[in-house]
Amino acid sequence: MPRTSPARRGATQPAAPAGLPEADPAPRPRLRAAKAPLHGSAAAPRRARPMRRDQAAEFIAAIARHNPEPETELLYTDPFSLLVAVVMSAQATDASVNKVTPALFAAAPTPAAMVALGAEGIGTLIRRIGLWQGKARNVAALSAKLVAEHGGEVPADRAALEALPGVGRKTANVVLNVVFGESTMAVDTHIFRLGNRTGLAPGKNVREVEDGLVKRIPPPMLRDAHHWLILHGRYICRARLPECWRCLGAPFCNYKDKVSSPRL
Ligand code: SF4
Repeated sequence: MPRTSPARRGATQPAAPAGLPEADPAPRPRLRAAKAPLHGSAAAPRRARPMRRDQAAEFIAAIARHNPEPETELLYTDPFSLLVAVVMSAQATDASVNKVTPALFAAAPTPAAMVALGAEGIGTLIRRIGLWQGKARNVAALSAKLVAEHGGEVPADRAALEALPGVGRKTANVVLNVVFGESTMAVDTHIFRLGNRTGLAPGKNVREVEDGLVKRIPPPMLRDAHHWLILHGRYICRARLPECWRCLGAPFCNYKDKVSSPRL
């Protein structure tokens, strides 16, 4: 059965996940009303003062309470379908990808079947998502490479993954994290913004943010932190108006312009 994420969970989960430090309930952030609903963008996020390591651990533990059992929101059934779904998700929402992949995976559930379907056949099934022509070519080509060089299996190796057409560091990080259980950090637009805005891992580019996150987040939290941060950026620490008034990470966040009211 396809997997889905619990997506939006309530903001008042009673306890931290097992093994994670309890968030300090005492300090309350100083909130102020927003004068304008613009709080930066993914392209030019404001940078906050870097968090201390202990502060970073408390922040991650706090936002984990919004989604104690985080999962990708992409629909998939096996390593191959996850790889294809992640390639499809470049510059597209998970929701839009999920509208086309069930039919695609039904028509071609294996790399060999995807090769047989071909770029044209793939294209007819995915044309509702952005950049569908290039994605159709990449999915056909990566499937052929999986068949030719990896026995039709998704390799558990970063270099081999990044050698597949359409697969970059971010996609490889997602596959290594979700399929193979590695503590990788795939930095998407949400995590890039969050890293800079909160001070969790300020950086000029995605690699700087990725390296900062890996350095600051305690290793036992790192694997799930990938999804905690994505979901937090998607549903709470939004690009144009972060919902600081309901953010459990607010006491530990270094963003100066926290928003106090949903009415503004
Ligand atoms: S929602 Fe506000 S308080 Fe929470 S992490 Fe984002 S900027 Fe910080």
